[in-house]
Amino acid sequence: MTRTAGVTGLTCPDCGDTMQHDRVDHSSLRTSGPMIVEQMPAFVCPQCGYTAIPAATWEALDRLAAERPVPARFISVPVYDLSDLPGAEALLAPMKRD
Ligand SMILES: [Zn+2]
Repeated sequence: MTRTAGVTGLTCPDCGDTMQHDRVDHSSLRTSGPMIVEQMPAFVCPQCGYTAIPAATWEALDRLAAERPVPARFISVPVYDLSDLPGAEALLAPMKRD
């Protein structure tokens, strides 16, 4: 992921730090099929990583999903089932607060 400079003045809702304009990679499982979008504009908190997607970016994603233009490239992606892992039942245990 390539980071770009620029402070936006938006405040992170999780930690209160100032979010920065950035570009992120985004994966999506839409009804029209899976897709990965690279270099997507976003606001990212440098402290905790909280990411906010501007409305205009969501609109661009919706257009991509609907129109499905020729992509930059195709990749194959491994799919995992966590229930197959040893100790998977522990992952399903209710979360406890300290
Ligand atoms: Zn934050």
